[in-house]
Amino acid sequence: MRFADIIGQEDLKRHLTRSVDAGRVSHAQLFTGASGYGSLALAVAYVQYLCCRHRHDGDSCGECPDCRQIEALAHPDLHLVFPVNKQGKKSGEAMLSDEFLPQFRELFAERRGYFSSQEWYDRLDLGKTLKGMISAREADEIIRKLSFKSFEADYKTMLVWLPETMNEEASNKILKILEEPWERTLFILVSERPDRLLPTILSRTQEVAVPRIAPEVLEAEARRRGVSDPVQARNMARLSGGDLLELEHLVAGENDALRKEYFDLFCALMRLSYNDKHLELIGWAEEVAQLSREQQQGFLRNAARLLRESFMLHAGIPQIGYLWGEELGFCSKFAPFVGTQNIESLIAEIERTGAQIAQNGNPTIVFTHFALTVSKMIKHL
Ligand SMILES: [Zn+2]
Repeated sequence: MRFADIIGQEDLKRHLTRSVDAGRVSHAQLFTGASGYGSLALAVAYVQYLCCRHRHDGDSCGECPDCRQIEALAHPDLHLVFPVNKQGKKSGEAMLSDEFLPQFRELFAERRGYFSSQEWYDRLDLGKTLKGMISAREADEIIRKLSFKSFEADYKTMLVWLPETMNEEASNKILKILEEPWERTLFILVSERPDRLLPTILSRTQEVAVPRIAPEVLEAEARRRGVSDPVQARNMARLSGGDLLELEHLVAGENDALRKEYFDLFCALMRLSYNDKHLELIGWAEEVAQLSREQQQGFLRNAARLLRESFMLHAGIPQIGYLWGEELGFCSKFAPFVGTQNIESLIAEIERTGAQIAQNGNPTIVFTHFALTVSKMIKHL
């Protein structure tokens, strides 16, 4: 994976190559940002740049043995740790990343480093509810591997993808490792949710914040992927929020059915709210409770977006809005109900609900409370 393979992120690439060129390589680094911003791909490109013996023009050569092996995630001095699991495992049985390395390499190669945790879990066939995790035994394995001498490269690298999936025991072991100086050893943690890491892990790593991909870069990417209408390409780039994976969904139209479902739920909630139909609101909450947790979060994200767009319409600045079709139709009519008096509390309520769902709150209770709270906030302004 060369920096040239990374989509956008020019400033960050420059920053990373310059720091290596100047010999400033911090031994523990934390890449943060969504998978769709390219955090994992960037981390691998960084390691490759560091290990390449023929780097030139701000990039690795892509051709030397080190580059080829790192690209394939098969370099003897590059160790990978990522969340794993399997259906029907025995209690107390710990899974190790190495057992699933072939599948991980395959997915990484297919998706050029851009894939979500859910895509990975689907590859492991974990079903709807099971997630991957990094076990305490994996942390022991890291220590064992680090005690070997490096084979070829100047650096031995331990790359941990999604360290937030470690439990407390594993986190504490990792922390001990980070506290000890390991000669010419690099720890690269790649996290989507650094807020879920121990503060002590955060304080012992140097953060490399991977920002959203610039809209114009994604717009070009949408066109490269076959969106011929420039307005649609621009809208998709804006809607994807700097996230390549979101853009892919939009381009592929994969989310059309789901997006329609979220939209219908949003319309129903708002209609029931401004008509004060409390009993029906409870029925609405029961319907949302049937969705998977991912879908519930998807609904909430969409609701926040539609509320913000309605607010823009109400404020009379529709030219910076990004709605079309039936969303524009509904939100134009709904706009008089969203204004400066309630937009912030509505968004705060959505965020609070999302956090409760993330913490495994009972969805019927959480969404009943949500629906009744929202209905009190929705009034003709
Ligand atoms: Zn090279």
